[in-house]
Amino acid sequence: MTSIDFAFSELQQSLRDAIEKICARFGDDYWLKRDSDGKFPEDFYRALAADGWLGVCIPQDFGASAVHMNIFGLNPVAVYGTAEQKKRMLPPIAAGKEKACFAVTEPNAGLETGKLQTRAERRGDHYVINGAKIWISTAQVADKMLILVRTTPAENTRKPTDGLSLFYTALDRRHVEVRVIDKMGRHAVDSNQLFIDALKVPAEDRIGEEGRGFEYILHGMNPERILIAAEAIGLGRAALKRAAAYAKERVVFGRPIGQNQAIQHPLAECWIELEAAELMVRKAAWQYDQNIPCGPAANAAKYLGAEAGFKACQTAVMTHGGYGYAKEYHVERYLRESLIPRIAPVSPQLILCFIAEKVLGLPKSY
Ligand SMILES: Cc1cc2nc3c(=O)[nH]c(=O)nc-3n(C[C@H](O)[C@H](O)[C@H](O)COP(=O)(O)OP(=O)(O)OC[C@H]3O[C@@H](n4cnc5c(N)ncnc54)[C@H](O)[C@@H]3O)c2cc1C
Repeated sequence: MTSIDFAFSELQQSLRDAIEKICARFGDDYWLKRDSDGKFPEDFYRALAADGWLGVCIPQDFGASAVHMNIFGLNPVAVYGTAEQKKRMLPPIAAGKEKACFAVTEPNAGLETGKLQTRAERRGDHYVINGAKIWISTAQVADKMLILVRTTPAENTRKPTDGLSLFYTALDRRHVEVRVIDKMGRHAVDSNQLFIDALKVPAEDRIGEEGRGFEYILHGMNPERILIAAEAIGLGRAALKRAAAYAKERVVFGRPIGQNQAIQHPLAECWIELEAAELMVRKAAWQYDQNIPCGPAANAAKYLGAEAGFKACQTAVMTHGGYGYAKEYHVERYLRESLIPRIAPVSPQLILCFIAEKVLGLPKSY
């Protein structure tokens, strides 16, 4: 029997070092500026593309590095696309020459994907799409979109999530109105409503078989949950680092505030919870890599990571007192950001529903 090894492999360590080096060039002041001006972080995106990080989950044949990191957006194309589609669609993304957005959520469907109403109708060698999407990130700057739409009405399918099809196609602004949503945080990454009116899509832009789009999307959902958990933990750790540094420096009642247990204990608790969440991330990622079903672990990781990240950000604001509310100290921005991994792409409530049903065998509640 081999013992459990918690150390990073050489490959994992070199990957962390390389990414840390890039991120060090884009510090908190850079992100505060993007938060205020709402501009897409083009130079950060270029820096990642230049070193091959955008395409790390795309097979090497299509122009990407062989190192694995989770940028899973085009996972369905990489897994279910034809050789021709992979060759046509993946290299421009890996090279950072094209940007893509991911259009699933609809105003009237929410978390109930089986209720998607945007329709694609087949007309000879192409489809015509009509409908609306909401909350679509980066649609202001995207050239392409991966879009999930209904090709068979739900009443003619065995279950509501059948009859959905996936397309990777040009975001043709003559037929897609992209309207930005004014929101609480993440101003550098635009969120949008899409109004799609008679968008013509060539049949060769359909990924996989007609009607099986939901299945294809599911394939990428577990790694996406693991990725988001890791993001939330990273954010929580950044907040905790700032909070601990501030607690050491700020002197009130003749002593650093960090000398008080009422300040220390919540910070220590956050550290413990972030560490525990990371273990679940590593377990879920390991299961995914081993092709072991990882749904429960991936969902648990997303839940724990998002909650721990949020708690650390909130604790960091409280540790800073009034200054926590000032933009200059960055933690208020972290707190706004930390809400996103809690809400999207699946809410904590729906994760609990999933665990209750699939792991504990309780009746489906939704
Ligand atoms: C910043 C941001 C970026 C996003 N980017 C994208 C993107 O790029 N592409 C994309 O397709 N989508 C994107 N989304 C959408 C996101 O995935 C959805 O907001 C999310 O899935 C929740 O859907 P909803 O907002 O419609 O919530 P709803 O489905 O309306 O749910 C509202 C609340 O009710 C709860 N609820 C619903 N049913 C139950 C139940 N049976 N039991 C208990 N609780 C229940 C939910 O948990 C939730 O808290 C983004 C969202 C945000 C905020």
